[in-house]
Amino acid sequence: MTQAEFYSEGELVGVLTAQPLDRVLDYKAPEGGCFPGAFVEVPLGPRKVLGVVWGAGKGDYDRSKIRSVIRVLDVAPMREEMQLFLQKAGEYTLTPLSAMLRLATRAPGLSDPPSMQKVYRPSGRQPDRMTEARARVLATLADYGGLAFTLKELAETAGVSTGVVKGLVQQGAVLEEDRPRDLPFPSLDPDRAGKALTEDQEAAAQALCAGIAAGHYGTTLLRGVTGSGKTEVYLEAVAECLRQGRQALVLLPEIALTAEFLTRVEARFGAKPAEWHSGVTMTERRRIWKMVGQGGAEMVIGARSALFLPFRDLGLIVVDEEHDTSYKQEDGVLYNARDMAVLRASICGARVVLASATPSLESWTNAEAGKYDKLALTSRFGDAVLPDMRAIDMRGEQLPSDRWISNTLRREVLARVEKGEQALLFINRRGYAPITLCRACGHQIGCDHCDARMVEHRFQKRLVCHQCGETKPMPETCPNCGAEGRLAPVGPGVERLAEEAAALFPDARVVTLSSDMFGSARALKAQIKAIAEGGADIIIGTQLVAKGHNFPLLTLVGVIDADLGLQGSDLRAAERTFQLMRQVAGRAGRSERKGLALLQTYQPEHPVIRAIIAGDEERFWRAEAEERRHAGVPPFGRMAGIILSSPDVQDVFDLGNDMARRDGPLRQVGAQVFGPAPAPIARIRGRHRVRLLVKADKGAPLQAALARWLAQFRYGNQTRVSVDIDPQSFY
Ligand code: ADP
Ligand code: ZN
Repeated sequence: MTQAEFYSEGELVGVLTAQPLDRVLDYKAPEGGCFPGAFVEVPLGPRKVLGVVWGAGKGDYDRSKIRSVIRVLDVAPMREEMQLFLQKAGEYTLTPLSAMLRLATRAPGLSDPPSMQKVYRPSGRQPDRMTEARARVLATLADYGGLAFTLKELAETAGVSTGVVKGLVQQGAVLEEDRPRDLPFPSLDPDRAGKALTEDQEAAAQALCAGIAAGHYGTTLLRGVTGSGKTEVYLEAVAECLRQGRQALVLLPEIALTAEFLTRVEARFGAKPAEWHSGVTMTERRRIWKMVGQGGAEMVIGARSALFLPFRDLGLIVVDEEHDTSYKQEDGVLYNARDMAVLRASICGARVVLASATPSLESWTNAEAGKYDKLALTSRFGDAVLPDMRAIDMRGEQLPSDRWISNTLRREVLARVEKGEQALLFINRRGYAPITLCRACGHQIGCDHCDARMVEHRFQKRLVCHQCGETKPMPETCPNCGAEGRLAPVGPGVERLAEEAAALFPDARVVTLSSDMFGSARALKAQIKAIAEGGADIIIGTQLVAKGHNFPLLTLVGVIDADLGLQGSDLRAAERTFQLMRQVAGRAGRSERKGLALLQTYQPEHPVIRAIIAGDEERFWRAEAEERRHAGVPPFGRMAGIILSSPDVQDVFDLGNDMARRDGPLRQVGAQVFGPAPAPIARIRGRHRVRLLVKADKGAPLQAALARWLAQFRYGNQTRVSVDIDPQSFY
């Protein structure tokens, strides 16, 4: 990529579009010329498409056929560092550049002219006739010192109908004007007083601030138990970044968490930051995208896709709960936001803070190896102390087969509820029951399109496939043998546990927190807030509750099935279980009351369960690292998962076998290919799935070898190939 300063009219430029073409196309620079990185509209066949001037044109195409760029869009050109980021991220994940560009332009209406909206301000003139409602409008305008309002805002603030405002416009007492819609975000004040930090918080904050002041790339792993004040500490790093005049990005794993977080940011900096995730309006997305590029947004809180926003001068990326699995995109472009944050920061000279109570083994290893700086907060803030952890040995409990709350756990829950405290019962399974079984013929109801069981969701009164989302009503008769009334739920889900709890604790207020039970993020936020304020005695929750929420009255956590995560064949099963259990347990005793976490398990001697109970994190990580080093698997070796899928089962197996045979390019770099084998879920949405696994040494140039290997084969129209570098889970 050669970058000129400017391309004059008629000069050849290479334009990258988001169309799946896999190459940069030559065009002539438009009238008035264009800058490298300019967002442009170009003709492509009969269409006009969005593109970016990627560099000089190649000139290897018949010049007389080359068309001109239609126009340059009114947005800040893509910076060279962003181009480099997209290119490297694409190379790492084996994703075509066009698909990377799509990630970087996920804001609607970028090619629209800046849109306008009507705003209202006082003219200083009085209306001919004054009414009480009119007086209220004028008083409101005066109160806000002549600031402009939208019609709705003004009417609502003054407590009048919009007609009243319109009447004042007719009278000339209020001016109606057009103004651009995409306005900058309010400025944040880093120098407002933050909370007084404890000694070790202060030391950590200063270390982070020193890193920011140094002004070049570096990553810090900030460890600390839940409630130790990691957020307080990294907000100080944000403050320092803002003082330097650079932008800060905070990635959060769960949108439901942002409400509490936004409030904290506002308290610290005096205004709200920009919020980027799937729950914000299209208009707001466009505003953020544009303002980030112009420097009109100082701080963004977002989901992983915020990494692809066109920041003008990004100085800090915080990845909160860095171990969280939702940072790994599992469809489309397969990237891990944590790794991409580090890549982006290393290109633009920013700092990265990875915050977690239970870091991923990858980050722990990088910190041990000295690649990342390490900071640790060792105690909980204030009087809060870590909960006691104990196992309940289920082999010694007498429980009927359709009950899951042991007597021991039940006694402890009752004791809390009687004291006015809260208890959380945790089960990481949505729905009512994982299996619906016919007691007449033994048939289990499965999905028609996937090799997966349908899960009963009583709340929605349907069976749901957790793979493809297909739902159907609960049948009255067995679809296999036709027997009537013999279908029975087997095993517990969160809804069934709630039913059991309601029966066991008739006097307690039981609420369920599961992501699929709320129509909107707002409803979920409201429920979380109500619980935090004491609106429930017993909370039944899935993974959703493990994260971030602060429930001050919560003093007991009961994990219904601590063994659940240990069963998978997944490389990370132990790590996941360890993290999840520690996190859930961390929900208890966040304020002055001491918490207790009880883990129901049939294998209390399992090393993972013992490490969780002992709270000996270092020992767990060291043992886990040793095992993976021994097996040569990540982070001590490299892996790529290849999934082939097609409606035709023979096709995918033939292709898979061919790929396994012609493994020359892989062997050249010392990599090995395993498979093909049916994927753990062998069919999703009617497509048969076959997987191959490629393993290599840590230093091997895996991506380049994979690209050469994959280029050898012809893929049918029906066949899809997806390459997952550093796969997080095998399904
Ligand atoms: P973490 O991010 O490690 O879970 P938080 O930063 O959320 O921890 O802190 C937990 C709670 O303790 C929050 O309510 C926070 O406001 C409070 N807190 C932490 N440190 C302080 C401090 N120095 N002064 C006042 N409150 C604090
Ligand atoms: Zn399905």
